[in-house]
Amino acid sequence: MNQDILSAARAKMSNICPLERDCGKKCGAACCQPDEDGQGGMYLFPGESELAGGDWASIMPAMMGEREAEILVCGGQCERDRRPLGCMIFPLTPVVDEDGSISVRFDYRARRMCPLLRYGMGGLKREFVDTVREVLEMIASDEEGLQFLRDWQALEEQFDFRL
Ligand code: SF4
Ligand code: SF4
Repeated sequence: MNQDILSAARAKMSNICPLERDCGKKCGAACCQPDEDGQGGMYLFPGESELAGGDWASIMPAMMGEREAEILVCGGQCERDRRPLGCMIFPLTPVVDEDGSISVRFDYRARRMCPLLRYGMGGLKREFVDTVREVLEMIASDEEGLQFLRDWQALEEQFDFRL
């Protein structure tokens, strides 16, 4: 996808958190911990491996449905400016309508570990919710970015059946 759009989206999101305070202190950064199999990772947006990661992470090929993609695997700590966009928007996730319009909701995967869910969207900082939506709209303005968001949503919705 267009790297200028992706870079601008990352920059816009980089310093905005779900709460005024560090929400990771509340849960021990639960969303950064490996799962019970010692596995974990965050999908990278198309071309994001140029912008995310470092010597603290591995970037590996992965399938996202039918699409070839990449995931970043970390040890639970990162350079904040180099974390994946997927980490920046968590615990929210895109909802893409048929016409390509974007809204956001809680990621089904957050149900397992994120204490913010119990307060609903109203418990998140308004600026965070608005910026996540704006950033995802930027991504959706790119044809490949829009298709990636659709594939992301399809994959994420599978977790609804597993929980
Ligand atoms: S699990 Fe939720 S509360 Fe904890 S660090 Fe992640 S987003 Fe914040
Ligand atoms: S890259 Fe950073 S924010 Fe993302 S899971 Fe790893 S430690 Fe957490």
